[in-house]
Amino acid sequence: MALIVQKFGGTSVATIERMRRIAQRVCRTKKEGNDIVVVLSAMAGETDRLISLAKEASDMPDAREYDVLVSTGEQVSVALLSMILKDMGVEARSFISHQMGLFTDSSHTRARIMKVETGKIKGALSNGAVVVAAGFQGISSDMDITTLGRGGSDTTAVALATALGADLCEIYTDVEGVYTTDPNICPDARKLKKISYDEMLEMASLGSKVLQTRSVELAKKYSIPVMVRSTFSENNGTLVTKEGKDMESVMVSGVTYDRNEAKISLTRVPDRPGIASRLFGPLAEANINVDMIIQNISHEGYTDMTFTISKEDFKKALDMVEESARDIGAEDVLADTDIAKISVVGTGMRSHSGVASKMFDALAKEGINVIMISTSEIKISCIIDSKYTELAVRVLHEAFELNKENGGTVKEP
Ligand code: ADP
Ligand code: ASP
Ligand code: MG
Repeated sequence: MALIVQKFGGTSVATIERMRRIAQRVCRTKKEGNDIVVVLSAMAGETDRLISLAKEASDMPDAREYDVLVSTGEQVSVALLSMILKDMGVEARSFISHQMGLFTDSSHTRARIMKVETGKIKGALSNGAVVVAAGFQGISSDMDITTLGRGGSDTTAVALATALGADLCEIYTDVEGVYTTDPNICPDARKLKKISYDEMLEMASLGSKVLQTRSVELAKKYSIPVMVRSTFSENNGTLVTKEGKDMESVMVSGVTYDRNEAKISLTRVPDRPGIASRLFGPLAEANINVDMIIQNISHEGYTDMTFTISKEDFKKALDMVEESARDIGAEDVLADTDIAKISVVGTGMRSHSGVASKMFDALAKEGINVIMISTSEIKISCIIDSKYTELAVRVLHEAFELNKENGGTVKEP
């Protein structure tokens, strides 16, 4: 007998009919003698709908009230699935934030999990019930409702799996696993049997929304095996696990894209000590994550600076930067939200050269201009015009031959 956490995403719970199919799967796993904690997302499109309501109500919605609103989607899902399970003769109980004891810090809209008090869930499991937990939401020490950021139900699932010592955490979604790139925009994408925590972490943080980045961080920290698979088929999925000898050691294992960034530039910034800290300090204090930063070489005592942030933070960041720009005497502030970040990822890159030039060549051949570049040991990212996103993904996937079992290599020059 095992304890299994099964998380179902938005498309998997999009209709009552689909919920009935999930209920059958849950029922089957239960009958095999397992304890089950189900974690649900809101029905497809519901979180987006709630967010647009918030934006209609207020230009800059109050973060506490925003969380009260957007967390309701998951409450609907858990109640409905529990009703369906009960009608099928399966004892089931829905749990929302305070009931599952999922405590977070108080950074609304992007809260981090601090601890999980599992007493109530364990009680329900030992009474033989299926626990149906609302993903994405938690509670702060002030008992305010918080949310974990877009895609946060994945993190709820891994956090519950960790706290309960589950044997497996299954993430059921609308694709059959983790692919070399998004299979919805690249028909050649290849499903991976296994992927290491580190590679998955990099892919997730660079935009592969199949798993929320924090869920992978948690799974890695506590060595929880995560199986990503489809709600709509019985095929094997992808196991996210420790790096093993049997894993492919290729230079490039995946291509990712992220359309959720925006770019802000400051022109003619006086080039003197303290300027960067004057600019980025307030953003950090406001919990705004800056991703890429470029500072041009100084010319006659002035320089240009460009950086990217997530679109969610764009309005707030732009207001703050405009104020800082006035203070430090920069000439102008320019903004662009029509950008995308395209990355190639692979732990094998550490020891090989040639990946960057192959990437730039492939983009250049299609006339795609590279606006910004950033690299780390295991990834290269380029900012491009967002209208080329799909084309860039397909071209890079092909250039690195990722459709092939032994693809992802670069011939030594
Ligand atoms: P859910 O609602 O089940 O949480 P998401 O939409 O958050 O589902 O994540 C699944 C989606 O992630 C897929 O439909 C796919 O378009 C996208 N995706 C992006 N990159 C990848 C990848 N490398 N492998 C699989 N799916 C990916
Ligand atoms: N419903 C939330 C979202 O759409 C959380 C999730 O689905 O994981 O982001
Ligand atoms: Mg998701």
